[in-house]
Amino acid sequence: MRIHALPPQLVNQIAAGEVVERPSSVVKELVENCFDAGASQVSVEIEQGGARLIKIRDNGCGIDKDDLPLALSRHATSKIQSLQDLEQVATMGFRGEALPSISSVSRLSLISRVADADCAWRVQADGSEQELDPQPDPHPLGTTIEVCDLFYNTPARRKFLKAEKTEFTHIDTLFKRMALSRFDIAFELKHNQREVFNFKKAVTPAEQEQRVAHIFGAAFLENSVAIDFNASGMHLYGWVSLPTFSRSQQDMQYFYVNGRLIKDRLVTHAIKQAYQDVLYHGRHPVYVLYLVLDPGLVDVNAHPQKLEVRFREGRSVHDFLYKALHRCLADVRPQTQEIEEA
Ligand code: ADP
Ligand code: MG
Repeated sequence: MRIHALPPQLVNQIAAGEVVERPSSVVKELVENCFDAGASQVSVEIEQGGARLIKIRDNGCGIDKDDLPLALSRHATSKIQSLQDLEQVATMGFRGEALPSISSVSRLSLISRVADADCAWRVQADGSEQELDPQPDPHPLGTTIEVCDLFYNTPARRKFLKAEKTEFTHIDTLFKRMALSRFDIAFELKHNQREVFNFKKAVTPAEQEQRVAHIFGAAFLENSVAIDFNASGMHLYGWVSLPTFSRSQQDMQYFYVNGRLIKDRLVTHAIKQAYQDVLYHGRHPVYVLYLVLDPGLVDVNAHPQKLEVRFREGRSVHDFLYKALHRCLADVRPQTQEIEEA
């Protein structure tokens, strides 16, 4: 066989294999786009666990009519221009892959309006065909993306969708993680027309704690301490459980780096070490932690779904986290002993 270039649609479907694992990955990509658009309100509507419909609406900056077809093309992004930008990237997206990938394995419609336009414009794509000649639409400022019938044209992948309930659980978990990453945004989630979450903007510390309590349970807040630690140009804040409040699973451990929820062995290890002396073996702490550091010190381009990062100075991040938590736990230890003795 001679070598030939693959048709663009097939290239997108192959890329979709990496980016779009299941309905919740579509929700993640689309909500991250709302963040990057500067939205203060994001609403997510799901039908049948996302297999039938994923509809996401924001009040962000919108997409210019002339850019709508580009938004659905591969490697087209408004977020970076150069390698230098990539190394300092502060937006959630930068790969220009999500919309073309999603649109190649679903029926997608994109409606958007920018501030100085007379009306909104809509484009549509359904896997094989793209209607990229924008049509006018009455949509207000911002963007709505509807993703219908995910994987309808890739039967092998459609078959791997789990039961509606399972897929929705993935979306629900992801939604909570995203809602805790941006207190300055109001979030709404509906499943099969039923309201699941409706979070107002959380501006004051009390409002933020309310959102945390809603998601992690009031018992967590009652049994946790707030942490706020600055050193070596890094800032760590959030809530960590007292040693008396632990779990047998690691399911309630949210760690954000510059607003991005990540999983990282170095981070998990540093935190585990800080808890080592105060937790029983096999028990795991609960935490919602936010690490803020110079974007130049983290490589976020280490994973197609951006769930992993690479720290340029891993050792100093590890030491910083250990020190911050160790000190925080040492401060509360007397109190903990009292609780245990009582
Ligand atoms: P990336 O986020 O990596 O740039 P995407 O495929 O997710 O790639 O989106 C392509 C482009 O479409 C973005 O760079 C952005 O300009 C635009 N876009 C996507 N979603 C939105 C949105 N909700 N609001 C405004 N612009 C958007
Ligand atoms: Mg994106």
